[in-house]
Amino acid sequence: MTREVDYALVGGGLQNGLVALALAAHRPGATVALFERGAAVGGNHTWCFHAGDVGAGAAAWVEPLVAHRWPGYDVAFPDLRRTIAQPYACVTSARLAARVAEALARPGCELRTGAAVLTAGPDAVLVRDGEGRVEEVRARVVIDARGPERAEVGGRCAWQKFLGRELQLAAPHGLERPVLMDATVEQLDGMRFCYVLPLDARRVLVEDTYFSDGTYLDVAALRAEVDAYAAARGWIVDEVVREETGLLPLPSRCAPPRASAPLVAGYAGGWFHPVTGYSFPIAARLAEAVAAGGDAVENLARDHASQLGFALRLNRMFRWFEPAARYRVLERFYRLPEATIARFYALQLTTADRARILVGRPPRGLSLRAAWRYA
Ligand SMILES: Cc1cc2nc3c(=O)[nH]c(=O)nc-3n(C[C@H](O)[C@H](O)[C@H](O)COP(=O)(O)OP(=O)(O)OC[C@H]3O[C@@H](n4cnc5c(N)ncnc54)[C@H](O)[C@@H]3O)c2cc1C
Repeated sequence: MTREVDYALVGGGLQNGLVALALAAHRPGATVALFERGAAVGGNHTWCFHAGDVGAGAAAWVEPLVAHRWPGYDVAFPDLRRTIAQPYACVTSARLAARVAEALARPGCELRTGAAVLTAGPDAVLVRDGEGRVEEVRARVVIDARGPERAEVGGRCAWQKFLGRELQLAAPHGLERPVLMDATVEQLDGMRFCYVLPLDARRVLVEDTYFSDGTYLDVAALRAEVDAYAAARGWIVDEVVREETGLLPLPSRCAPPRASAPLVAGYAGGWFHPVTGYSFPIAARLAEAVAAGGDAVENLARDHASQLGFALRLNRMFRWFEPAARYRVLERFYRLPEATIARFYALQLTTADRARILVGRPPRGLSLRAAWRYA
């Protein structure tokens, strides 16, 4: 069987979910087929992003995905505590799945779950359904976003690994804002911090997170760390509502994003922030560019590649420092002006920002000049 659509979206995760929404917003007449091998779009995630990182064009279709918003966030290190007044937002898989299903309910569009794509070429995909039937779908544009496990990363790779537990507490936790990085915890397995999202007065997501040189994730040990973190704050847990784990490459080298067909998008195509592992804002920008058409994807790929080059260099430098002292690099970073911190997360650093990040007094016991030479 062969049929044709305007856009074939391979992989129904964050990236292609956002592409489907951008196309529905800007090209409602386009025919779109999305193929996801899992049972649902979006898997099991909470995706957070700095609200200012999503441009005006995407804001209208991103807004309905947002489950929580906060006006700022905190960071905590042994020698620094700071509140950063940058709005922060959180999107859930359930919301993404619901909005994508609505967006693809229009005539000529299709959302197929339980559908594994066997090959994704420049103008066609081969897809196998749950009963083993194979179909060819031809498309004007093929977007292959099969996730982080297909990312073309190289060099000496570090890993962001984490386990998050969403906890329902017996009494209010008292937090007003997320804590993006609490690095006052014991430093183990590279740099370690806890990430805390207050979802309502008695519900909180706590992630035990490592920027590690290895991929081993001891789920039982991380669970115990999350529980110990909650207990140390006097929180009594009524129920563990949900869990999520992640293992994301933070490479020192990676293939630059390409605009050629098929468009390899999302984490797999290098459309992510290699220092933080965030990809939401970049995925939203790419979705807007796909919907805009013309040279938009090519222009974005060029801009992103230049930012990526600098961020990859930072990763090489980070690894040069002793694992137990790496938190000091971040402690120093969080002393920078808020605007620089915001542009760092957005991956929109100016030349002055880059200089601010690299120059100045190095963290205690570290020589940035030496790190630069060895990077
Ligand atoms: C637990 C976790 C939390 C994260 N939190 C954040 C966050 O807060 N903020 C942020 O910006 N980033 C976050 N990230 C990083 C990044 O945003 C996510 O990894 C994001 O999901 C990447 O989007 P993607 O579309 O590239 O890949 P994915 O969302 O992983 O989607 C890939 C999809 O392709 C499907 N697929 C794979 N192979 C096939 C095939 N052959 N046929 C059909 N379908 C296939 C998969 O089933 C999957 O659904 C997080 C990552 C993880 C793992």
